[in-house]
Amino acid sequence: MSQNATVNSNSFPSGRPVVFRNATVLTIDPSLGMIEGGDVLVIDNRIAAVGRQLVVPENAVEIDASGGILMPGMVDTHRHMWQTALRGFGADWTLTNYFMFYYINWGKIFRAEDIYAGNLLAAIEAVDSGVTTTVDWSHGLQTVEYADAAVDALEAVPGRFVLAYGNLLGAPWEWTKAPEFADFIRRRIDGHGDMLRMQLAFDVTGDPAFPEKAAFEVARDFNLPVTTHAGVWGATNDNGIRLMHEHGFMTPSTIYVHAATLSDDSYHRIAATGGYASISAESEHNAGQGYPPTWMLRRHNIPVSLSMDTSVWWSADLFSAMRATLSADRSREHMEAHKQNETVMLSHLRAEQVVNWATLGGAQALGMDKNIGSITPGKKADLVLIKNDQSPVMFPLLHPYGHVVFQAGRGDVHTVMVDGKVVKYDHHLLDVDLAKAKQAVMKTVEYAQSQMGEQAWNESMNPEKAVVKYIDNPYKYTERVRDKTAQNQSSQES
Ligand SMILES: [Zn+2]
Repeated sequence: MSQNATVNSNSFPSGRPVVFRNATVLTIDPSLGMIEGGDVLVIDNRIAAVGRQLVVPENAVEIDASGGILMPGMVDTHRHMWQTALRGFGADWTLTNYFMFYYINWGKIFRAEDIYAGNLLAAIEAVDSGVTTTVDWSHGLQTVEYADAAVDALEAVPGRFVLAYGNLLGAPWEWTKAPEFADFIRRRIDGHGDMLRMQLAFDVTGDPAFPEKAAFEVARDFNLPVTTHAGVWGATNDNGIRLMHEHGFMTPSTIYVHAATLSDDSYHRIAATGGYASISAESEHNAGQGYPPTWMLRRHNIPVSLSMDTSVWWSADLFSAMRATLSADRSREHMEAHKQNETVMLSHLRAEQVVNWATLGGAQALGMDKNIGSITPGKKADLVLIKNDQSPVMFPLLHPYGHVVFQAGRGDVHTVMVDGKVVKYDHHLLDVDLAKAKQAVMKTVEYAQSQMGEQAWNESMNPEKAVVKYIDNPYKYTERVRDKTAQNQSSQES
């Protein structure tokens, strides 16, 4: 019999098979679909069986998943984890504020230990919220010592990670050529299998001389995928895509982050060469790269993965990403229809598709879908159980995909399994040193404050406000005490 009684919320028996019992299982495997009252058996690090009332080994540990949704671990294909050290600092930023802060003024002050601190907290946060694979778009790596610190943090947390190696203060055609860079790959990445992989992370400026060519050649030599912010209003554009294509560097492993402000011609090139988009809808809505483009990408048959970009501004869980993506897509469909004086009668994008993007879509973008991304017997066991018996939100459970996208949140993540290991159980993280991560981040915050000084710190966090100016109203505005400030500003303006 299963030995349920041995399980308490602060530990979990290791080295034994695990069976999730009686869940609504969203397998994301097209041949298995959704299974109500389903069981999933995990032996070692793999999914051994999926079905109903499975017969399991004598020593299996049982997790009661009744009332919950069991789904594949989520995959975030673009996150600047080091920036979590200043979580929430840029809530009111524009992209220009962001560029000024990291690229021009303050990016250079961050030390290797600050990269470690941000990465550690972000990695714990990922696992806690059911994101079992995260691409760490690590563009603060000023030297290889910084990259070592980034990887030290990722290795301290039981999740799957892809280090997307970058350096926003350097030229990619230079830092990729350094001998210590090649040495880093040998020392830290080779031989880690699918728990720690690597990409090259850099942007293509559109300079007609195409200096990035040398960096793409390094990527090809080391067989590393390239991830690049593409179609970012005012920063990267169609010229970058064209240059990549003309030089033969657009491949099925290339990831185009945002892919927002691009012409049909660029989308045709992406579709024709098999690459993936990484959509960060909260980011595109707020920062100004362009409108979240899923409504356009599907017309071009470009596959989609989801991402959270950076928690210096936004949330870092894929529930928020799914919600923002679905809302953005539908909002645009309505707006486009209204322009034609029409009404959208049927929603094009469905919740099920968005859950697919958050799981299998990400795995496919990373070329890891043979091993992760769906609950398929034989795949590695990366699983998330969404279950919260104390919450009114988990009942009734009628439309499970819609429930994941629009009802559930990170607080409803009950159990997380990565590579067959339970890393969170009954809402408690296991074997993770959150206190250490908080302490490291606190030191980084204090250090950044002292380097910047109080005035720059405050001004960077609270950029000058744009002035509201009322439009002329032929009916004369109502005088309201509450509006005094805005009216004063308005009359000063005119
Ligand atoms: Zn980004």
